[in-house]
Amino acid sequence: MTVNLLDFNAKNLASFCAEIGEKSFRAKQLLRWIHQSSEANFADMNNLAKVLRRKLSAIAVVEPPQVISEHVSSDGTRKWLLAVGAGNEIEMVFIPESSRSTLCISSQVGCALECTFCATGRQGFNRNLRVGEIIGQLWWANKVLRASHKEIASKSEHFVDESKVVQSAGNSHTVSNVVMMGMGEPLANFENVVTALDLMLDDNAYGLSRRRVTVSTSGLVPAMDRLRERCPVALAVSLHAPNDKLRDQLVPINKKYPIKELLAACRRYLETAPRDFITFEYVMLAGVNDSVAQARELVKLVRETPCKFNLIPFNPFSNSGYERSSLEVTYRFRDVLMQADLVTTVRKTRGDDIAAACGQLAGRVLDKTQRKNHVIMEAAR
Ligand code: SAH
Ligand code: SF4
Repeated sequence: MTVNLLDFNAKNLASFCAEIGEKSFRAKQLLRWIHQSSEANFADMNNLAKVLRRKLSAIAVVEPPQVISEHVSSDGTRKWLLAVGAGNEIEMVFIPESSRSTLCISSQVGCALECTFCATGRQGFNRNLRVGEIIGQLWWANKVLRASHKEIASKSEHFVDESKVVQSAGNSHTVSNVVMMGMGEPLANFENVVTALDLMLDDNAYGLSRRRVTVSTSGLVPAMDRLRERCPVALAVSLHAPNDKLRDQLVPINKKYPIKELLAACRRYLETAPRDFITFEYVMLAGVNDSVAQARELVKLVRETPCKFNLIPFNPFSNSGYERSSLEVTYRFRDVLMQADLVTTVRKTRGDDIAAACGQLAGRVLDKTQRKNHVIMEAAR
């Protein structure tokens, strides 16, 4: 059977090398070829012995999900649609800014958690992404971005030092930050997500610092504790409401892990986290969770949890039943939080014109019947 080497972190690649009778330093060489040079063709890995290259070609592949289409927004945001088999599709979004370049990636085909304001939740759940499909998004993005940069560079007269191109953060030709805020709940696909995180952090692969990799969760408390032990990266928690009554409606998983437990898990997480605060995401829904009284309730709620707030303008989709809070209301809400010394930002909506904003990611999900099974699996943990 052919193995996909994108499915392996350093440890698994070393075991694979041992299984095929190769020394462990080969794993390091392979990691570098695959993830730093975006090389998928073993024949071109010219510091590996020819015999090994032939052996690998016979038993292994480097196979990311296939890119079906690309859309470029007027603000430079790029959205790629990727095929993950059986007619299913996922999306990833690249957001270039002056100081960093962020890739927003997906962890599941659809999502089982049914948050009422989320297009992905509406679609239902099909399956978890494999490691190679998660890291394959970063693999593709870097390959495509580097190729388009080279093309531009070759047209210009300036000499480009390749080593600097690959290393430099905060430019538009490699990814400097990864956020797991695309389709799916990353912590419901725990093992595959942390194996992919290993690769993002590995100096022989992408070498990103823990602070530059963010997992966003709707609040799966036991998995937050496991992440804290296994791979503490920056954490964003989708709070969206100042009390259980409202959060039960917006984020149904709250019935299982209510706010008090969630905040306690956030404080535990901070013991090992690379940042000394949790980012709370709060989607602004007109007339639902955006009043001054609710902002004050929120201030009291998080008093003992070091945090920052990111207010997300609601991104509408058909029949959502919600509307975006006006800017005026959003700023009023922000001011209440700021007056209580809570650092609060309002997320810029990027890529609106190509439906690439948060919660609008909705690649095709064909068999949605897996939702019940998945929820049961999660509950059994
Ligand atoms: N499942 C994870 C990560 C993916 S969603 C989570 O829920 O955190 C990433 C962020 O987008 C979350 O904060 C989510 O609540 C938010 N979001 C979902 N639908 C949205 C919408 N329609 N408009 C704005 N933000 C949305
Ligand atoms: Fe799933 Fe996150 Fe959407 Fe909720 S907001 S349905 S957890 S992707």
